[in-house]
Amino acid sequence: MRTDVIVIGLGAFGSAALWRLAARGVKVVGIERQAIGHPLGSSHGTTRLFRVACMEHPGLTAIAQKSLELWTELGERTGETYVRQTGSLNVGAAGSRPVSGALRAATEAGAATTSLSHHELQSRFPQYGGLLPGDVAVWDPGAGICFAEPTVRAHVAEARRLGAEVYPHTMVTAIEPRADEVIVRTPTTEFHADQVVVCAGAWLGTLFPELPLTPRRTPMFWFAPKDPDSEAFRLANFPSFIWELADGRGLWGHGSDNGFAVKVGLEGAHSHITGFAADDLDRSIRPIEDIAVLASAVSQAFPGLDPAPVQVLPCMVTDSPDGQFLVGRYGDRVVVAGGDSGHGFKHSAGLGELLAQQATGETPYADAAFIDPRRF
Ligand SMILES: Cc1cc2nc3c(=O)[nH]c(=O)nc-3n(C[C@H](O)[C@H](O)[C@H](O)COP(=O)(O)OP(=O)(O)OC[C@H]3O[C@@H](n4cnc5c(N)ncnc54)[C@H](O)[C@@H]3O)c2cc1C
Repeated sequence: MRTDVIVIGLGAFGSAALWRLAARGVKVVGIERQAIGHPLGSSHGTTRLFRVACMEHPGLTAIAQKSLELWTELGERTGETYVRQTGSLNVGAAGSRPVSGALRAATEAGAATTSLSHHELQSRFPQYGGLLPGDVAVWDPGAGICFAEPTVRAHVAEARRLGAEVYPHTMVTAIEPRADEVIVRTPTTEFHADQVVVCAGAWLGTLFPELPLTPRRTPMFWFAPKDPDSEAFRLANFPSFIWELADGRGLWGHGSDNGFAVKVGLEGAHSHITGFAADDLDRSIRPIEDIAVLASAVSQAFPGLDPAPVQVLPCMVTDSPDGQFLVGRYGDRVVVAGGDSGHGFKHSAGLGELLAQQATGETPYADAAFIDPRRF
């Protein structure tokens, strides 16, 4: 089969690239090893945090804003909501990463933010039980939550509507760039194209072993309030947050609404093991290292939550050495996207647009040098 562009891997990044290529009228084929919206990679579950004043790098603000613009446009067409902007809190000591990083995004990328003193934080958000006297917050009014699996499915459905061909349950076994084309092989077929966009998530390092990528086990947890009638932990009252605790670990999450419970995760938990191949992720949930450790942090931070999780799902992220994505050209006929480092979903539509621009030779809408895969 011959086409213009092949996208390999249709999780958050690849499904968005497929959509943005199809939106340009490019003849594009998407190949996914599993079902569309499956729970075995990094993009499953109901929600992800959406932030604009991104603590990880000021360059991410433009990419989050592009995601918002594209998801708003898509939602106007489909009648669905892909982002809910409730605002979010970056909490910690004045010099902590969430606080200083959000302020840097405000200064360098023009993200709108408001600083909250310790007193303002405590009085407006009494759910926070374990604040230290020096803890303050930065309010990111453009932030909120985005919807994970429904968005991946919507990207693919929209791409199909615009003419993309999609092959789920099809594993790519080889990518062979040649002078005049790139050949992509599966166990039963070979595809020929001008360009390939490889978005294989935790498996990107299997296809390109020289890339410095490390899958990391990171289960997801949901909680309920102790008082089932309490409104304190509803999304409208308990918007998304990232909180650097005194010991340097990070708590993050958001409130509940119809269809999802309160989500809380712990960054820096030692059950977040690395050093495994993506196919070998340990999907079992550990009563002590996963549940007891997080329950202890939750009971100190949010005393109104029942610390026993109501739901747990295995998941993994893929770390890069500097915590930034690897997105961009990686050869004359190859573009890659991976190394999500645990903060990629909110950027997926914006990255899909960048990937489409890179695959078609357009000028990128944002500076992508800080995520160039060849920087290592
Ligand atoms: C617990 C947790 C919490 C998170 N919280 C947030 C958050 O709050 N905000 C945020 O923005 N981000 C968050 N993230 C990160 C976000 O979910 C990821 O950045 C994003 O989902 C990565 O998408 P991806 O497309 O790179 O990977 P994936 O979704 O895993 O997609 C890769 C796809 O490639 C396919 N594939 C692999 N190899 C092949 C092959 N050989 N042939 C064909 N297909 C192949 C796989 O099956 C898979 O579908 C979180 C992640 C986790 C795990």
